[in-house]
Amino acid sequence: MAATSSSGTPTLPARERLVGGDLLVPVGGVPRRYVDLDAAATTSASEAVVRAVQEFLPWYSSVHRGAGAKSRFSSARYEEARESLVRFVGADLATHVALFPRNTTEGLNLLAFRLGLTRDDVVVTTAVEHHANLLPWRRHARLRIVDVARSGTFDVGAVVAALDARPTPRVLAVSGASNVTGWLPELSAIAAAARERGVLVVVDGAQLVPHRPVDMAALGIDALAWSGHKMFAPFGAGCLVVDRRLLVEGEPFLVGGGAVRAVSYDEVVWADPPDRDDAGSPNVVGVVALAAAAEELHATRGASRSHEDVLVRALDEELATVPGLRRLGPAAGDRLPLAAFVIDGMPYGEVAGRLAEEHGIGVRSGCFCAHPYLSRLLALGDDEVARFHADARADRDDRLPGAVRVSCS
Ligand code: PLP
Repeated sequence: MAATSSSGTPTLPARERLVGGDLLVPVGGVPRRYVDLDAAATTSASEAVVRAVQEFLPWYSSVHRGAGAKSRFSSARYEEARESLVRFVGADLATHVALFPRNTTEGLNLLAFRLGLTRDDVVVTTAVEHHANLLPWRRHARLRIVDVARSGTFDVGAVVAALDARPTPRVLAVSGASNVTGWLPELSAIAAAARERGVLVVVDGAQLVPHRPVDMAALGIDALAWSGHKMFAPFGAGCLVVDRRLLVEGEPFLVGGGAVRAVSYDEVVWADPPDRDDAGSPNVVGVVALAAAAEELHATRGASRSHEDVLVRALDEELATVPGLRRLGPAAGDRLPLAAFVIDGMPYGEVAGRLAEEHGIGVRSGCFCAHPYLSRLLALGDDEVARFHADARADRDDRLPGAVRVSCS
């Protein structure tokens, strides 16, 4: 995205590194350059990632399943990517491994299953979470929710109180950054509090990893999940970096070839991690793309951060000029370059539709897979939440509450 401040000064160094950056779309019958303000959902691929995939395509073959040169090469690239992604998020290769779920959602589902939780277990999570970091835990355990203030934030003290309540929780599952408001919880203090109490720390890194360096070892994070398609790689390859000790017992989430040492009708000898959680032929092309994206992000973190700080300021300035616009969540402090808002008197779907049709601007509108958070941000009362559910059950999606989100990269 190129932007100017309200003072008219050009503010952004051009970062011409995404494919499709000059797509034209029809606006009122006239072709216009598409403005993608939906990067928090999915980013375009970077040119470096496309190059890495193109170079690998002639070589891809079965992973850990063939003796030929192509298969050996593919297997080596796959394992190199596994190592480089562990390093990318600051985890220790002696203790942590990378698994390759399709995305954050699959990674968190896998982990919630693998921890062998029961209904007696408590998982502390927060009102900020995307459904991907809520529903897998709800399926396997009891939730204890850290609530948010009207500002859409919580403080470390609220997390500590939830960690100290009885029974002692087994897991703290928290988002590294919100996909709705861009708010960044104080991960370092939160993780430290959980670790002091012997509680596993699981971080939904879907929004954090593309925007900030993460040092899992320094922060004391046991597991971190994120998605390639939000950091300039294509769909279908995500990553779960996790403490190997959490994977040594129990059956894998997906069972099949590759996850085993020996199989008879009566007995299965499972492979050690990470192979135990790698049943079926893996998405080696996606993993190569993900590793290339991580390498490029790592190399450009400094420039990306300055670029994003400019974007945050540009968003703040521009949105402040729109009459009747109300921002949701904190509008100060460290945030990702995204913002959610409502406009008085104009339904969110109409705002998004008009931005697309009249201006060629792509945004997202609705609840952003974070219904409890949206309910808080919109200050819905219990009755309104009940109506929300009744409308959903009755298929009346057009009546659901929501907002508009603009997000850039
Ligand atoms: N968590 C957060 C904070 C997200 O923003 C998203 C996607 O928007 C997800 C989880 C789920 O990611 P995916 O759809 O790639 O599984």
